[in-house]
This record gives sequence, structure tokens and C-alpha cells, in this order.
Amino acid sequence: MTRKNKVRRTELPVREGASYECEVVGLTHDGAGVAQFEGYTLFVAGALPNERVRLRVTKAKKSYGFAALQEVVRPSSERVLPPCSIFERCGGCQLQHLDYAAQLQWKRQTVVDSLARIGKLSEVQAEAYAIHGTIGMDEPWRYRNKVQVPVASRSARVIAGFYARGTHDVIDMETCHIQHEWADQVVAVVKQVAERLGIAAYDEQTHSGCLRQVMVRVGFSSGQLMVVLVTNGRELPKAEALVAEIREQLPQTVSILQNINNERSNVILGKVTNLLWGEEVIVDAIGDVQFAISARSFYQVNPVQTHVLYEKALAYAGLSGEETVIDAYCGIGTITLFLARLAKRVYGVEVVEEAIVDARRNAALNGIENVEFEVGEAEHVMPAWRERGVNADVVVVDPPRKGCDERLLLTMAAMKPQRIVYVSCNPATLARDVRVLVERGYRLVEVQPVDMFPQTTHVECVALLERG
Ligand code: SAH
Repeated sequence: MTRKNKVRRTELPVREGASYECEVVGLTHDGAGVAQFEGYTLFVAGALPNERVRLRVTKAKKSYGFAALQEVVRPSSERVLPPCSIFERCGGCQLQHLDYAAQLQWKRQTVVDSLARIGKLSEVQAEAYAIHGTIGMDEPWRYRNKVQVPVASRSARVIAGFYARGTHDVIDMETCHIQHEWADQVVAVVKQVAERLGIAAYDEQTHSGCLRQVMVRVGFSSGQLMVVLVTNGRELPKAEALVAEIREQLPQTVSILQNINNERSNVILGKVTNLLWGEEVIVDAIGDVQFAISARSFYQVNPVQTHVLYEKALAYAGLSGEETVIDAYCGIGTITLFLARLAKRVYGVEVVEEAIVDARRNAALNGIENVEFEVGEAEHVMPAWRERGVNADVVVVDPPRKGCDERLLLTMAAMKPQRIVYVSCNPATLARDVRVLVERGYRLVEVQPVDMFPQTTHVECVALLERG
């Protein structure tokens, strides 16, 4: 350590390893409390705004530090008891200790802050825009239709559950309160059977063993169940016995698949999927539109709130039956098919080939003919469509967390659709992209946050932009 650093260290108001009592003034985007001690900021997981806490400093950097919560001296009126016994250790949920109404408020505030701080819209847009209150769930538990749990072995036992916060240590789990109950049951069956039949769990360190992950998908409206066993390599010993046991214990199963992932990486699914038993897809419906979903396709994880979100997106699209619409990042065509029933023609683009296969099948399944799907990156396909003379009256985008590619935003602005409906799962990239569009002649009109992921810090919203 240099002399200079030493001097700086001693100037900090806190010392690593020491305990302090302080006030919590905020919550970070990943759900940690923001505490202040003599003007110095400490991030402390588990603490909530308006609390007074005792904490122990674990790391003190120059301008901020990290601390472990030791005691809540004065709890927030919004603190609740988390129902999950592994909440403190598991990385899946971050906000179970915060009252649900407060979670919804915090999510709206996150959108407000992102648009103001990152989008700096006041610089480029004179008119005010409305950010509505977050639409929450009546029952904010057991909402997930899809789960992927890592499998590991510990002292000759097969365990499966979630990674502990910030690590790859598997925490064994019996029940997860945000997933459908069937997922708990599937995971329990796979653990039991793998242990009994001696199917080895994958070991990340040595890249050996077989079973890496169990993925479960539930059709909430159809009652159908899909189980995907992700294996390291082709070999799945005792596959038949495993299939028989799953079918016996969970007769609602319609599809059992093996996905092969040989990579030493965090990517869950590999490229090859083999059918072990039943169908390649399960069917589900959102409202009165039906969808067939294959293992690797993206499908919204909260079907109840997805319906709410899509209805809002549809209302924002303001369709009369005469419009040409583009749905970029269309997945298996979920929003596309909702739009198609009220538009003249809808074009969907998506980068995952299987998803487009699903999208075409889904259009046929619903007897919808005024749609056209293309595989590719939206930022490449949109300019090609424009050259072909496709000009949209309305564009809907629903990009992944990293937001839209700038080329896509510029092509979209050049097409001059009357309305842009932006469905976002990340307020920060939404704000960045909205700014680009506002600088090119669009006006942000309103934003509706919809809580797709209760108990977690994920924020989803839909924004309406209009031309002129
Ligand atoms: N609108 C769909 C899917 C939204 S998720 C729904 O509501 O279900 C985002 C989708 O964008 C994913 O399906 C992902 O595969 C796709 N994607 C990611 N990058 C892309 C790109 N550059 N171009 C087109 N699609 C992309």
C-alpha cells in the first residue's frame, strides 16, 4: 500500500470490520439498502429505506463501501416477514422483506428516476409525460410458469435449487414461493430418482457428471407440463426410468426433453434438444390467443401479468384495422398475434430461429393470416424491410435488457410511424432509447409499469411515444 493510500484510508469515516449505527435513505436497483454514515455511503443488503440499522463494514472504498446488516434498530413500517426460509441466502428474490404495495411504488419510482436521470427528457421535451402507478398482482406469489434450477451433489446427495447470491454455490430448495407448485414437485422427483438410480450431478469445477439443470414449464391455462433435463453430453443414463417416474408422479406432463450442453459456461441451454417422451411443445393461452411453446423459445414467465401488459400495449398501439405494424423482438409472436387481430398487416422479427418456427405455427393455430415473420437481428431486418417499401404506421419493440440497437432506433425514426410502443424490462435502457427517439421528433406520452416479477427488483413497463 502506498503512503498516499494509507493517508486516504485513515480519512474515511468508517473502518473495515467495525460496526456503526446509521440511517438508511434509499434502495439500489438490485434491492440493497443505501445507508449514510457521516456523509459516507454504505450498501447494505437486507436494509430498507427509513430504517435505522446497526451494520458491520465489510469493504470500505474511497467513496463508498459495503456492509453486512447486524440489527434493525428501528424497522420501516413497510418491512414484512419474508415467507421463504432461504430468502436471505438465495439470489432469486430481493424484495420479499418489503410490503407489496411499497414494492409497486418503488418500481414506479425507478422508472421516474431513470427517465429523469438517464433520459434527461426535460432537456429535449417541453411537455410533461405521465408515469402511471404500477399495476400489481392480486396474489403476488406462485406466478412463474418457468423455472430453471441447477443440480449439484453434496456429500453423495443430489441437490437442486438456486445459486446463493453472487456465487455459484447451489442452495438445496424444497419450495419456491414464486414458482408454480408443479415445479417444486418436478425438482423433487428428479432429485430422488437421480439419487436412487445413481445419475451423477454435473460438477462445474471439474466439468464432469451428467445432470446440469432441470427446466420446467407450466401452461397456466392449459394445465400442461414440460420438463427439460439439461445434460453435459449426450449420455443420460437410466433415461427411461426417469421418464417413467416423472410421468407416474406428474401425469399432467406432456413433454419430456433432453437438452445437451457441453459448454463450460453460464448459458443454461445448449443448441441440441432431443425428445425423450411426448410432444416437442406445450400449449398455453393468453386471453383467447393460443401459443405452442418449445423448450428454447422465450415466453413471458408471468402469464397473468403478460395479459395485462399486452392489453396495455394494444391500447397504446391505437389500431383501427387499417395499419401496418412492425413487432420487433417478437419471440414466438405473442404480441404480434394480439396486434394482428386489430391491424391490416403485422411484420414480426426475432433472432432465435426456433421462436420464429413457433411464431408461424402459432399464427396457423389461431387462424391468423395477416402476419409475416422473419428470422434475424431486428437492427438488420428493419432497414431491409424499409428498402423493400414496408413502412409501418405503428412499431412495437420489446427488446431484451440491453435495449434497442441504435441502428434500429434510427431506422424506426426514419420510417416515421405515428406511434411507437416500447415494452421494456429495463428502465435504464428504456430511458436511453427514449431520449434518442425524442431527439428525432417523438414525444413521450405516457408510461405504464406492470409488475411482472413480484418480490424481485425486476421492473417492466410499456411506454407510448407519438410523432410530432
Ligand atoms: N415480444 C416477445 C419477446 C420479448 S423478449 C414476448 O413478449 O414474448 C425479447 C426477444 O428478443 C427474445 O425473444 C430474444 O430472442 C429476441 N432478441 C434479442 N436480440 C434480438 C435482436 N437483435 N433482434 C431480434 N430479436 C432479438
